[in-house]
Amino acid sequence: MSRRAAAAGSQSSLREANRLLVVETVKRYGGLTQVELATATGLSQATVSTIVRELLAAGVVDTANTTRSGRRAQMVTLARRVGLAVGVHVGHRSMRVVLGDFTHEVIAEQSLPLPSGHRADTSLDRVALLVVDLLERVGATLDDVVGLGVGVPVPVDSSTGMVSVAGLMPGWDDVHVGQVLSKRLGLPVYVDNDANLGAIAESTLGAAREHDDSLYVRVSHGVGAGIVIGGHVHRGAGGTAGAIGHLPVEFPGEPCRCGNDGCLDTVVGAQALLGRLRNSHGVLALRDVVQRTNDGDQRCAQVVAEAGTAIGRVVAGLGVAVNPQVVVVGGELADTGEVLLRPLREAARRKVRLNPFVPLEVVAAALGSRAEVIGALALALRSTDVPLRVDTDEDVDAAAGTA
Ligand SMILES: [Zn+2]
Repeated sequence: MSRRAAAAGSQSSLREANRLLVVETVKRYGGLTQVELATATGLSQATVSTIVRELLAAGVVDTANTTRSGRRAQMVTLARRVGLAVGVHVGHRSMRVVLGDFTHEVIAEQSLPLPSGHRADTSLDRVALLVVDLLERVGATLDDVVGLGVGVPVPVDSSTGMVSVAGLMPGWDDVHVGQVLSKRLGLPVYVDNDANLGAIAESTLGAAREHDDSLYVRVSHGVGAGIVIGGHVHRGAGGTAGAIGHLPVEFPGEPCRCGNDGCLDTVVGAQALLGRLRNSHGVLALRDVVQRTNDGDQRCAQVVAEAGTAIGRVVAGLGVAVNPQVVVVGGELADTGEVLLRPLREAARRKVRLNPFVPLEVVAAALGSRAEVIGALALALRSTDVPLRVDTDEDVDAAAGTA
């Protein structure tokens, strides 16, 4: 038996633990075949098959025929009637809300622009309205929702759901984001930094799905990283792990919102990039820079590429510290594709010579600009206990005992 399966105990508690292990594993990945479930849980295929059968009978999971490597297989997902969840991503200039189920499938979504320097009270009001609106669209109500995950572009103290570094998003300082939204909607709310949520999404559903150790680098109005070690996001003591936008890169440097000088954000943050384009292009928004770069504007492409090089140098250092199998790059600026990625990859690789046989792999986010909001949805789902209303019988006892 796998060390992840239950330790010796009574047959019924062992069976209960194995059933929970199967449900938690399906929940984590959204959907797995029975063979993949056996590999991921360490349970025997016979045990997985028995547990899936009883969970199916209890309406906790659904199964569907699929193929894997040309063979017929059964895909196991949690049943939609187990509940819906909401993912919310609040950025510096926009927000996105998605409604999804336990397969991590998005069934409705909506984006909204936000004013510069927006405040928590008005933005959270909009989130609450959007949630109700999306539920109406799919004929559901708040009673169908198990919880909300919320991502914000600043470090979060996960024990309080509050922004943990003052001054980075002034209108959100000292606000209990989780409490405010929870009171308004009457639902559990889980809050995290958006780069951490991108890391959750990409490491379970996206480009780093096959790896235990990975980095997710989010390049948008600011830069942040999610550090995944052994399959878990490393948040650090105060929730600021991965806040690479505030690593010092210039000495002396420009003053940063965080109170220090010469942070990476002062070199590659939106303000810096847009400032560099002001003489030639006038006042632009970050999305304009992405659009123009993709339309072939040489000057915009050059500014994006320079940002890629500066970020790549920091990623090289982080790569040495964490030794990930892959670095996944997402965020708005990653929509410029290789214009950002190539110089970032070259700078990251040039600096990492500790193991020349394993060059640092740098790839684009598989979930694109939705990684953060899908991660927020995943956070809500993985934070929710699935009710296991399962009747037992002797056959089930016997099969579980063979694990
Ligand atoms: Zn800073």
